Amino acid sequence: MTDRKNQLAENLARVEERISAACDAAGRKREDVTLIVVTKTYPASDVRILHELGVRHVAENRDQDAAPKAAACADLDLRWHFVGQLQTNKVRSVVGYADVVQSVDRLKLVSSLSAAAEKAGREVGCLVQVALDAEHGERGERGGVAPDGVEELAGAIDAAPGLRLDGLMTVAPLAGPYAGRQRAAFDRMMDLSTALRATRPAANMVSAGMSADLEEAVAAGATHVRIGTAVLGVRPRLG
Ligand SMILES: *Cc1c(COP(=O)(O)O)cnc(C)c1O
Repeated sequence: MTDRKNQLAENLARVEERISAACDAAGRKREDVTLIVVTKTYPASDVRILHELGVRHVAENRDQDAAPKAAACADLDLRWHFVGQLQTNKVRSVVGYADVVQSVDRLKLVSSLSAAAEKAGREVGCLVQVALDAEHGERGERGGVAPDGVEELAGAIDAAPGLRLDGLMTVAPLAGPYAGRQRAAFDRMMDLSTALRATRPAANMVSAGMSADLEEAVAAGATHVRIGTAVLGVRPRLG
């Protein structure tokens, strides 16, 4: 194995151990949690190595970086998740490779994604991104809709051709009442998910937890964790 492959294999094994231990501690089955590796700022060659090591879900947050990377890896059976703040002028490109857009946080984005998905003849999975640091009607600092805006967006996604409502996504807030209280934040997310699933049982994805807080997310009930740094290393620049 190359040095890089060795390194990524070691890091993956460590993350795998953490997820397994968190599942054990929570009395959950390991297969109920899906690892998504966030490959932003890292090259397509790393994505290829990760695929060789068994990774099947990757995430990106910027279309400019993601589009060429996805094209370079088009021969691999990977599912691409888009997790960044998304401008409507990038939607057409993103719909070309993303299986799931996890950062749906406004009505305009829903109509734009729907139009692009229909045109491309694709069905795109959507997660409503929740900002637990936003007051009602506001959006979060890092994107996301306030909890009381989830229902309206979910309804819009339900009604939008080409889109499929898969669930909810959040990033543990750095400010506000949940700052430093990841477990409480993720518990709140699970409450929102329970409410969503009451009328839409298929929308059962809960994407929460990153390198620093995956244990809290798994304990709360997250179905998908998004891990960057712990697998690929500290990013060279903010991404
Ligand atoms: C970068 C990023 C991650 C991964 O964060 P790490 O701390 O590197 O694991 C997860 N989710 C989103 C939305 C991100 O932008």
